[in-house]
Amino acid sequence: MSPQPITAASEAVIARGRAVTPGGVNSPVRAFRAVGGTPRVIREASGPWLTDVDGQRYVDLVGSWGPMILGHTHPDVLAAVTRAAARGFSFGTPSENEVLLAEEIVSRVAPVEQVRLVSSGTEATMSALRLARGATGRDVVVKFAGCYHGHVDALLAEAGSGVATLALPGSAGVPASSAGETLVLPYNDVAALEAAFAERGGEIAAVITEASPGNMGVVPPAPGYTEALRRVTAAHGALLISDEVMTGFRCSPSGWYGLETGPQGAHPGGYAGGAPDLFTFGKVMGGGFPAAAFGGRADLMARLSPDGPVYQAGTLSGNPVATAAGLATLRGCDDDLYRRLQQTADTVSTAASEALTQQGVPHTVQRAGSMFSIFFREGPVTDYAAAQGQDTAAFGRFFHAMLDGGVHLPPSSFESWFVSGAHDEAAVQVILDALPAAARAAASA
Ligand SMILES: *Cc1c(COP(=O)(O)O)cnc(C)c1O
Repeated sequence: MSPQPITAASEAVIARGRAVTPGGVNSPVRAFRAVGGTPRVIREASGPWLTDVDGQRYVDLVGSWGPMILGHTHPDVLAAVTRAAARGFSFGTPSENEVLLAEEIVSRVAPVEQVRLVSSGTEATMSALRLARGATGRDVVVKFAGCYHGHVDALLAEAGSGVATLALPGSAGVPASSAGETLVLPYNDVAALEAAFAERGGEIAAVITEASPGNMGVVPPAPGYTEALRRVTAAHGALLISDEVMTGFRCSPSGWYGLETGPQGAHPGGYAGGAPDLFTFGKVMGGGFPAAAFGGRADLMARLSPDGPVYQAGTLSGNPVATAAGLATLRGCDDDLYRRLQQTADTVSTAASEALTQQGVPHTVQRAGSMFSIFFREGPVTDYAAAQGQDTAAFGRFFHAMLDGGVHLPPSSFESWFVSGAHDEAAVQVILDALPAAARAAASA
């Protein structure tokens, strides 16, 4: 038996929060609706550890949903942030760190010649869509069921992340006109893509896709799929937008792009037919602060204001503290880090799978670089419909047993698990020790 969790202080904060904030949270999945129970209110975080207001420690496998790739309060990032903050919080006029961060991104992802910095992944995809529509003079956008691109009106239909966790078809408040300009197709289905383009190709401004989806759980592109996206869009004069907000600088030094171009990649050659026109980034590149970006070919980016007619702006865009955090984080993302992330992901995902197998729990582990998730059903899971077919109740029992064992997983079976460079042997051991009881809980319907 696990000890009863101590949650009195967390419960008190959440209760007060509910009075002044819908659901007591500022982003819906944090409310634990999919798994039940009390969200842990975090007081501080260091390395792989979270400490809640009840004084309990957890090994963190959420990593703020991706950004904390070096672990929490990494000394180099903390020093950079402290230095930057002492020099000013926001200037509203250019600063050098913005250029350095843009250069770091451009040097890592070959097809990206220019970027514009923004403050969230949502802003990045929203602006990339506007740019694609402005550049093509077309309105329709294709997205894939289960992919999440932030809470942009046109992109919420059959979205992943919280929309999947809460089993919503989309969102109220999205105008029919906006939803009507979005075509939602099943992921990994080349025939559906070809059919949609055969019918409406002349109206389609862009296809936006997660480079390797991680918001319906981890569902990598099937071999040849990335190439098909490029071939079909190019044949119809539509742009291809690769959303690397989650995978960027996480799956490899150059994100998922690196895995499909590099020799050691999951599907080397996926981009052999040509690179995407636009990319979006966020999460890791902000190092835990609000910094994100969209970018691509210079001729396309030249259509943005002030050089071109597509308007885009932001009071806090290129914020000096956020760019300092992002730059220090990316500078810490070296080959050694990616090697260690892979090893930790190997160890944890293998052990989790073995524990579940031992208890006869149907499941499949899917990977994209060091990102992975466990679907509580037999695999492979290649699209959103399959992801929705998993046993979310079994995940809920597994989740709470892990939490009781001192491991904070994402509170949804539609989310990737994130390891960091700070997950040392001691942290991994806590995870390994928690797994057997969690697997038994998952098995006990
Ligand atoms: C998180 C995410 C976004 C949205 O980013 P925010 O910073 O939460 O607005 C967009 N696309 C993908 C693929 C993401 O994972």
